[in-house]
Amino acid sequence: MQAGPVRGLSAAFFALVLCTAGAVATPPGNVAADSTAKAHSATAFAAVAPPMASASAAPAHGTATTGDELPGPSGTSPRPAGRSSLGIDATGVGIGIGIGGGTQRIYISVANVTKSTSDNTYATVSQTQATTLAGELNSYWSRQTDGAVSVVLGGVEQRSLGMSSCSATAVLDAEKKVAFSGKFANDNWGGTGDHLIVITQEKCAQQSFGTVGGDGGTIISNFGTSAANGLPFLAHEFGHNLGFRHANATLCRNTSTYDAPQSSITFDSTTCPTTAYDDYLDVMGYSVKSALPHVSSPQLIELGYLQAYRTLTSLSGALGPVTLTLSPLAGTSGVRAAKIIDPRSGDAYYVEYRTDAGEDATSAEFSSVQACHSILDGYKRCNLDSSPTYGTVRILRTIPYDNGTVATTTLAVGTISGSTNKKYRHPSMAVGQVFTAYSGGFTLKLNSRSPAKGASITVTFKSLL
Ligand SMILES: [Zn+2]
Repeated sequence: MQAGPVRGLSAAFFALVLCTAGAVATPPGNVAADSTAKAHSATAFAAVAPPMASASAAPAHGTATTGDELPGPSGTSPRPAGRSSLGIDATGVGIGIGIGGGTQRIYISVANVTKSTSDNTYATVSQTQATTLAGELNSYWSRQTDGAVSVVLGGVEQRSLGMSSCSATAVLDAEKKVAFSGKFANDNWGGTGDHLIVITQEKCAQQSFGTVGGDGGTIISNFGTSAANGLPFLAHEFGHNLGFRHANATLCRNTSTYDAPQSSITFDSTTCPTTAYDDYLDVMGYSVKSALPHVSSPQLIELGYLQAYRTLTSLSGALGPVTLTLSPLAGTSGVRAAKIIDPRSGDAYYVEYRTDAGEDATSAEFSSVQACHSILDGYKRCNLDSSPTYGTVRILRTIPYDNGTVATTTLAVGTISGSTNKKYRHPSMAVGQVFTAYSGGFTLKLNSRSPAKGASITVTFKSLL
């Protein structure tokens, strides 16, 4: 097994949790583990599921340096076709330009991988079940993209592959050649909006992965299609196919600002140690049983899917203190996120309000089962303890990749409940707390938060000098 560091859990407990939670992440031995902070190449990827964590038990952590993202064929865009960068209107509200998205068709090939059927865990997928699955993916991703993306069923078929092994990469390679009369052969799905989803009937190595962007793609999953277990993985992988990268978590070891330059926010950073997947309020983080939380705001904004946000910058007229009320991100009205450009560093920060409602009501984050990682030198970063009564206001940043895509990461800017130790932190801001960007370019104060009235923040920019 080639897994990343197990943080805060013994290896034996880790294995137990993985077994009981139903998730194992094992890159094939002949494939190099991916460095998640770098762009993917055709020969360097890891075939690994997003780790699955149970909402009712201590979550499984690990595989911090592996990913489940496959590169698209050369020449395909990491962004969905029809999308482009955003403009900013005169009032600082982001506006989409050339918003496309459109209809995505899923073609489900159910694979009985080995000759035997006695080793099958999952039944085949009927036409009715396939239609239901397409409806579930449509419901989720249409909501995440404010209606820009719709998902329909292109077809469903059953295949007996008669293979001797259950390697996910080998199964996917075999399926791509033959599925749906060769429709996905030679990676010719780029730009079509067509997605091949291979569901194995065997559990195999319990992996799943997708392709990042390209307006189409391929997915393989060893987790079936049930709403509780299979769907969270498929929703995550479909997000990759739409161009989304992972939702991660960062703790900057700076106890005065809790912040650092963009260049310090990397997976191998010691200034701002960052853990892959470690965000329970984003479907692109860990996969959790029955959980389909909203995608967080940074990638929605940068991919052009979220338009109901404000951009705040001292160069766009917002010179003095700006007080803004954020509506819950998983809601349907109001300003649902803010993007702040630091006038001194040029770095981007994102602020959002997450509440125990909408998609986020499925999240483990509001389960009040605090889970903490020991990070480095006595630092701890915690999750799962956001208040279901008040919700959580959090500050996020991005991790750029060479090909222009970005991953999301939360900043641990809050000290955890009942502790004043600045080394113990979580992403949730306290009411009255003032966050100061490392450059000193702006401050952000959380004035109040309530699911009914929203979260009030005040952003004050400082002089460039
Ligand atoms: Zn993934």
